[in-house]
Amino acid sequence: MQRTEKSKILLIYTGGTIGMSRNFETGALEPFNFNNIAQHIPELKQIPVKITIFEFEQIIDSSEMNVEYWQKIADKIFAEYQGYDGFVVLHGTDTMAYTGSALSFMLQNLTKPIILTGSQLPVGDLRTDAKENLISSIYFASLKNELGESQIQEVAIYFEYKLYRANRATKINANHFDAFDSPNFPPLGESGITMEVNEHLLLKKKPSQELKYYRDMSSQVMLIKIFPGMQEEILLHLLGSSKIQCLLVEAYGSGNIFNYPKFFKALEKKINKGMYIIILSQCVGGSVSLGKYGSSKKWQQIGAISGKNMTTEAALVKSMHLLAKAENHTNFKLDFTKNLFGECFE
Ligand code: ASP
Repeated sequence: MQRTEKSKILLIYTGGTIGMSRNFETGALEPFNFNNIAQHIPELKQIPVKITIFEFEQIIDSSEMNVEYWQKIADKIFAEYQGYDGFVVLHGTDTMAYTGSALSFMLQNLTKPIILTGSQLPVGDLRTDAKENLISSIYFASLKNELGESQIQEVAIYFEYKLYRANRATKINANHFDAFDSPNFPPLGESGITMEVNEHLLLKKKPSQELKYYRDMSSQVMLIKIFPGMQEEILLHLLGSSKIQCLLVEAYGSGNIFNYPKFFKALEKKINKGMYIIILSQCVGGSVSLGKYGSSKKWQQIGAISGKNMTTEAALVKSMHLLAKAENHTNFKLDFTKNLFGECFE
């Protein structure tokens, strides 16, 4: 493993706490321009890689993230793909796992890293975590193997000394510096005195496959979390919407849910008319296992799809990608349950 002098990294700034400043009138943190970051991390100049900075015109708090912005990020990476060895995307933590998952389905057969990072404290804060996160992300993005190829060839999130597969990561803490975890998959790498990469866990593209860009994402999806006392009438009302093509349900434990006969009947009708129902777990770790308990058997009977051990973020954007991709949707169910880019078990 080596980091060559020649690595060229494109640093893409979208916003997030990392570049924010305090508005002294309101007391709130608001997005600022990139000079704020560059000024506060003069060490960037000392890293022996060539860094080019690209800042979007519209810098956002990542709670404003949407499909159009994912497309802007992916368009930029796709357009600049040949000119760089790796990409580091500065992004707010709130929706970083969604964006990372989205990029993993939009840009396929990568041979170069796309590493998302951000921070919990703004770069100007004395105790900021921005410096370490940014500098180590750049280091990971510039690692090469003995053949001179990028060592990491997938979308990852770097945060607080750990590199995670993006479509396995989730934000778990709003206050701690270790804001992310990847409960169902070990970290791809760790930064300590040395930068360690778990080579055996990395995705490798098959030699014959070219980079493919799937730009379209469908937004005709809906995500709900069930809870004790949820009203059947409200659920039936939701199912009345003709806009929803795919409904993702965060059920209990291994996919369990209350027995609401009218709701299940309505769901079955919707499935027969072409709607997809995906079952996820409210637990951060472990897997959905439909039929393990009587209270999840109903899903199988009506033809719902298991989200396996996918994060909610990965499952949601995978459904958005597959809905847009499948013209007649015939392969949706098959593709959804396949491990496409390391997001779930086989
Ligand atoms: N609200 C911020 C964002 O996601 C939080 C952060 O960056 O940590 O953009």
